[in-house]
Amino acid sequence: MKKILLIATGGTIACKQTSAGLAPQLSSEQLLSYVPQRAENVDSMELFRMDSSNIQPEEWRVMAEAVVDSVDKYDGIVITHGTDTMAYTSSMLSFMLRGIDKPIVLTGAQYPIGAPDSDGLRNLGDALEAARLLPGGVYICFGGSVIRGCRAVKTRTMSLNAFESINCPNVGRFEDGIFIPMAGMDEKQAGKLDFFTNIESRVALIKLIPGALPATIVGLASCGVRGVVVEAFGLGGVHSIRRDHAESLHKLIEQNIPVILTSQCLYEASNPDVYQVSAPLRAAGVISARDMTTEAAVTKLMWALGKLGESFSMENVRKLMQQNICGEIK
Ligand code: ASP
Repeated sequence: MKKILLIATGGTIACKQTSAGLAPQLSSEQLLSYVPQRAENVDSMELFRMDSSNIQPEEWRVMAEAVVDSVDKYDGIVITHGTDTMAYTSSMLSFMLRGIDKPIVLTGAQYPIGAPDSDGLRNLGDALEAARLLPGGVYICFGGSVIRGCRAVKTRTMSLNAFESINCPNVGRFEDGIFIPMAGMDEKQAGKLDFFTNIESRVALIKLIPGALPATIVGLASCGVRGVVVEAFGLGGVHSIRRDHAESLHKLIEQNIPVILTSQCLYEASNPDVYQVSAPLRAAGVISARDMTTEAAVTKLMWALGKLGESFSMENVRKLMQQNICGEIK
């Protein structure tokens, strides 16, 4: 029987009620005890007991290192994690563990595993099974959906189907504990492991609003930000009358701060080549995120800036950002 490692990091799945609200309290062993039918040949390890709102680049590195340190001893790894930032973690692990030849499956729950009718039982059981069945790569298994880690977005705050695969079909789904593969399952994700954690985390994400002040964008440079992702309107528009954001973004680019343009729309690709209003942005040198999720664009920019290091140039950032690394971009 295949051997699986469960790595616990906290999240609602491990929560109990405290006087101040829900807080992660259960150990990895205690989590496993809720799914005895799937726990055979599963080892467990606890990295953190954190609400995922507190998970940051430092924790991503610890998780990636824990995976790489143990992956040779197991056929697959499940990571339990809070849902709130799970899509950022799954996107970042997809880059940090590019080419991994074992399945790394993140899961969690909307309700504590000990609560009546918690989705945690199903999600943890399914994820342990997914880690026995899937090809190499990073995934989220949640609410019956199996999604590529770099395509996942949390789209619901309370419903059990909290995650969606954006601009990419699901890898598969679980029905009554049985895995049903779907489109994309055969696509090979694995190659040679390119383990890399020296990311540049000084990246900002800006969501434009009508009337946004240019100073809020230009000021990012003096905050020490090294790269910016902008969620623009629709296909990739920004306003240029009265408050000119083609100009404010250009000021960042002039200071060697790459600007990645993505959309406030969740579905379908951004494309700054269509409208006249986007022409100055193209001239300013923004880089299109195309069909990447915001989570993938942000984490890929951190990864790309770290990877490039001394070979940083706007052109090299553009090439790397538009190259398909792990299925995050078409
Ligand atoms: N606040 C929790 C977390 O992200 C939410 C959850 O796990 O569902 O850790």
